[in-house]
Amino acid sequence: MARYAMVIDTTKCVGCMDCVVACKTENNVPEGFNRDWITYETIGKFPNLHMEIRSERCNHCDNPPCVYTCPTGASHISDIGGIVLVDYDKCIGCKACIAACPYDARFIHPDGYATKCTFCEHRVVQGLDPACVATCPTHCMYFGDLEDPNSEVSKLLQSRKYRVLNPESGTKPQVYYLI
Ligand code: SF4
Ligand code: SF4
Ligand code: SF4
Repeated sequence: MARYAMVIDTTKCVGCMDCVVACKTENNVPEGFNRDWITYETIGKFPNLHMEIRSERCNHCDNPPCVYTCPTGASHISDIGGIVLVDYDKCIGCKACIAACPYDARFIHPDGYATKCTFCEHRVVQGLDPACVATCPTHCMYFGDLEDPNSEVSKLLQSRKYRVLNPESGTKPQVYYLI
């Protein structure tokens, strides 16, 4: 089975927000909410400091507390390459998943269910890249299958230094940041 992941090159991100706009448009994200966002962080120790700009979203964790805490089974690891999804019909809007996610990746849709980044699974099943990946003008985002050693994401992780966010949380995030 595939294991989909995103690899984001922080050295190429200029913080233009095109990924955020692309996601809102593609996924009809309601006013006042976002499935992805830009974070600025000062990295390093004085005097060797630099500003990292990165695009963040649900990490589609391999060990996802949002799934384990969901009382109805709405939040689940899908068989589409391990993408973490919410079955909106099963969601009762209890917010347990929101409290459990260390990345603040989820929100309650005005229609009453929990939602978040889906890795654009509706595009992925058609062989397309997620909307944010396809739109990025600096091509700093890559999407693919880590089970395939010849995929671009696998090759990037073999050849470049990278990190994940909050590794100490033990969630095994599947969004990797090239540094
Ligand atoms: Fe769940 Fe949060 Fe991990 Fe996404 S980032 S899979 S919402 S724990
Ligand atoms: Fe599950 Fe929905 Fe409750 Fe989240 S808000 S834990 S998806 S029932
Ligand atoms: Fe939004 Fe799709 Fe990108 Fe997730 S993968 S942030 S849903 S555009």
